[in-house]
Formats: sequence, structure tokens, C-alpha cells
Amino acid sequence: MALIQQSDAAPQVPGGGCAQPLTLLRERGQREVFCGLTSIVWLHRRMPDAFFLVVGSRTCAHLVQSAAGVMIFAEPRFGTAILGERDLAGLADANDELDRVVEQLLERRPEIRTLFLVGSCPSEVIKLDLANAAQRLSQRHLPRVRVVSYSGSGIETTFTQGEDNALAALVPLLPHSDAESLLLVGTMADQVEDQLCRLFARLGLSGVRTLPPRRSTDLPPVGPNTRILLCQPYLSATARALQARGAQLVTAPYPLGVNGTTAWIQAAAEAFGLAASAVEPHLEAARQRGRQAVARYRDQLEGKRLFLLPDSQLEIPLARFLHQECGMVLQEVGTPYLDRLLMAAELEQLPATATISEGQHVDRQLERVRAARPDLVVCGLGLANPLEAEGMATKWSIELVFSPIQGYEQAGDLAELFARPLARRQRLHF
Ligand code: SF4
Repeated sequence: MALIQQSDAAPQVPGGGCAQPLTLLRERGQREVFCGLTSIVWLHRRMPDAFFLVVGSRTCAHLVQSAAGVMIFAEPRFGTAILGERDLAGLADANDELDRVVEQLLERRPEIRTLFLVGSCPSEVIKLDLANAAQRLSQRHLPRVRVVSYSGSGIETTFTQGEDNALAALVPLLPHSDAESLLLVGTMADQVEDQLCRLFARLGLSGVRTLPPRRSTDLPPVGPNTRILLCQPYLSATARALQARGAQLVTAPYPLGVNGTTAWIQAAAEAFGLAASAVEPHLEAARQRGRQAVARYRDQLEGKRLFLLPDSQLEIPLARFLHQECGMVLQEVGTPYLDRLLMAAELEQLPATATISEGQHVDRQLERVRAARPDLVVCGLGLANPLEAEGMATKWSIELVFSPIQGYEQAGDLAELFARPLARRQRLHF
């Protein structure tokens, strides 16, 4: 198959179902993506006793406010300590200023149990040592409040990588345990997590723990007998930090769609020595419901050509679901970052005709979109309306991060998210 060569070398990656290599296109250039600060929007909902304090500029405050929309009016659990000109010019001691802001915040909000100091581009550029600040502030405020730091800057992180850094920062704080346990890693909607934990309990795997936990102080134990099962594909740093604490990574596809959810649950069951035949009967009813729900949208999606632009690292598992279960034709699957270890089980299932692109050179990518004339483009809000104006149907990718999409019961809703823009265009007679 053809090797596409652009800005960097374009190696091939194993996969393609029939052992044919997939084409991997690596690009660097202008990007149209969020920085890691955006992940605060779902992380603060997951841990209501935590507060996320961005140490950054007014730009950072504007970004988080725009991403959070109306949530900013509801007693937010995030804010920005804005670095002023005096801090940036080195006239004020930024550490003293930060300590003062944190004192004020903790006085006003006594319910905070964990305070995340979130690094940004400005704080990194002036080399403000937030790890040191977190240690100093923790010593001052423990046992009431623990202070942790991580980077969500655009220099270092893209969108969901903010969650990866936040969770990796919690790993050193997890208590040690030698007991056998299953740890689900990555934020999912509470109701989705409950459904999946109920399925695990039916298989006899009870006492499943989660990272992040629902209460920031309820940290799950970890040790050599902990198996980690990732709920989200963008957790490279967290997975490696957990492995460094002795935990075993269960590699599996991600729980998107009926096939993904089944393979994900079976991989965990197998890691605990359960035979597939013992697992199957417990999954059958939910699997049937999921298949029927997806089938409702298959007619609309089958044969339609799909182009995914890089955004969240969810693109490869989504492409696998849309190809396998909805019959869509994959033109290009863009991802901001490709972790081959965490994506191995997904890549195996992609058709050899799909091009995977890692990173972005947005102008070149848009040229390919225009040449391919896909039936549906998955992209961010910055590109969606312009592409609609050029006559292409688009799906906003950010919705995929904020909506409950994992598991059997959500498989139909997931397919609907992609069928909806196509149905709307039909109704409006484009
Ligand atoms: S962290 Fe960097 S990219 Fe993100 S909003 Fe602040 S300045 Fe912009």
C-alpha cells in the first residue's frame, strides 16, 4: 500500500485486521486544538470536593470560562490566579502572591479538600515552580487540604492530556496495597460507571475502584496485584505511573460500542482468570439491547465517508466503532498523539485502507478534507461552521468528551451523535 510522506517520515503501524500495515502520517505545524486546561471542565464535576486553580493569564481564564459555558455561574470549583505584569516582570515574588491567593481561597471555601494548582503557558514560561509551591502549601494546609500540581499548558498538553496529567499527579499519593483489585482509570459519567461496575459485580469482580474517585480524598490503593483497565485512551502518563507502582496494565480496546465494551470487559475478566464462556451469559442481554439501539442508525451511517480531525485521542476507538458497527468508510483518522501501547488493540481492528495521522498541520489537513469531500467531518468548533459553509456535514468533537458514550446502554446514543448531523442536512435538503 502507498506510503504517504509529508512533513516527517511516515512509518507504517501494524494493524488493519488482515495484518496489512496502516498508513501513519506524522505532521507538525499550525494546530487547531484545545490546551489541557479544558479538562478542568469535566474533572471538577467528577470530584466536587476539589478545586482547580489555574496559575495563568487572562487568556487562560477566558478559555476555561468559554469552555465551561453557563457552569461559571454555579459556585464554580475552578478559577484562575492571574499573573500580572509585576509577576511576569519579576518585580513581585510570584510565590508570595500565590500563597496569598490560596489563603484567601481556602478561607472562603472551607469545603475544599484537594487543591490542584494547574500550570499554564505563562507560568511555565516564567518557570514558576508549581510542584514546589504545592509541597509548601500542602505542608501548611494538611490535614485539611492537600495541594497537588500538574501542567495543563498548551505548550505541553492537548485537551484530554490535561486529565492525564491531573491523574498522574495523584498516583504518588495512592496508598499501597498487595490485595487483588481492579482499578478503572479515566473519567466516565457516574451513571456509565455504575452500569459497568454492576456488570463486573455480576461476573464476581466486586470492589472495583476508580481513578479519579468521586471524592478526591477517597484514593484507591495500588500495588503489584492491581490490574488497571483504562476507560479512556488518553492516559499514557497515568498508566505508566501506575505501572511504576507495580500495577499490571490490561490492554484492551476501549468500551465504545457493543464490540468495544465486550472486548474491554472480557479482557478484565481474563486477567482475573475467568473463562469467556463464564462471562458471555452475563453480557448477552445488555449486548442485545446495544446492538438493537445501534441498528436504528446503521442505515443512515452505512457507506458514508468519515474524516476525523485530531482533538481528544478518542478518534481511533471512535473510528473503529463507526467502521465496524455502523459500516462507515474511514478516510483519515487524525489523533493529536498516538500511544502505540495503549492503542495496540484498537489499531489491530482498523481497516488497512484508513490513513492514521498524528499531530496536525491544519492547512494541509484541510486540503486533504477538501480533496476527499467526506460525508461527515468530525472536528472542533473552530472549523465546524466554516466547513459547513463549504457544504460539508460536521460533527463537533467536543461533545464526544462531555457526553456519556461508553458501555452497552450508550452505544445507540453514540451512533446517534454521528447520524444526527447527516439527518439534519437531509431534512434541510442540502
Ligand atoms: S494554558 Fe496556554 S494555550 Fe491554554 S489558555 Fe493559557 S495561554 Fe492559552
